[in-house]
Amino acid sequence: MSENLIALEDAHLTLGRGTAAVHVLKGMSLEIGRGESVGILGPSGSGKSTLLMVIAGLERLDSGEITILGTPLTGLSEDALAAFRGENVGIVFQSFHLIANMTALENAAIPLELAGRRDAFERARAALESVGLGHRLSHYPGQLSGGEQQRVAIARALALEPKVVICDESVSMLDAEVQAEVLSLLRDLQHQLGLAMIFVTHDLAVASGFCHRVIVLDKGRIVEEGPGDRLFEAPQAPISRLLVEACPRLPR
Ligand code: ADP
Repeated sequence: MSENLIALEDAHLTLGRGTAAVHVLKGMSLEIGRGESVGILGPSGSGKSTLLMVIAGLERLDSGEITILGTPLTGLSEDALAAFRGENVGIVFQSFHLIANMTALENAAIPLELAGRRDAFERARAALESVGLGHRLSHYPGQLSGGEQQRVAIARALALEPKVVICDESVSMLDAEVQAEVLSLLRDLQHQLGLAMIFVTHDLAVASGFCHRVIVLDKGRIVEEGPGDRLFEAPQAPISRLLVEACPRLPR
């Protein structure tokens, strides 16, 4: 993968103060290229969510650098950072975070409206069509299936055409069949749009099936890294005791 869309260099971050202070990221370095998907695995408390927050520009580093699309985030003011994030980073959450009293179209249009796009509804409609929901524009979240709600959340994350997309346990609430459909949709979109995608998951099958590369965190450090499709192959298999502990659903 040639062009890096995300580059994290020797990232350190401590959260909390005094006796509650935790050195969460301890010198993490990571590069993710255009069109590359990277799965993040690791035990609870290893720093996965914090890493996502840093890449999303929602937490600032104490030292080191995070560069997205060639822009170092540490130099940006709060306003510039918020604007940069809105334009360039899409986030798909596990629990969808859809607004219950807004239709699918209105939900998908939120980031576009926040960005002041006059064509917000036109673009939101196109985004919903691209996830196969052109026939559900005026449905409310409560009138949609879990898989459809997740598609709305994907459309909303992609509406501003970001090049970096972060998925936080995004398919773990869905049953196996719907999960496979949503993953296949994400893979197609990623391929078409050349997205750099980060996927936090507890499901090793998702990580190995979906991601080009899998990274394992432990105590704020990257402790293992390997190609997703070779996770189960000996002898290069990067799979370890740590990975087994991090993934309760791993076949043993
Ligand atoms: P994961 O997503 O892998 O479960 P997190 O990134 O949420 O891990 O958290 C990593 C560690 O940082 C945990 O030990 C957690 O308790 C600690 N932590 C997270 N947020 C804060 C905070 N605001 N203040 C203090 N410690 C925190």
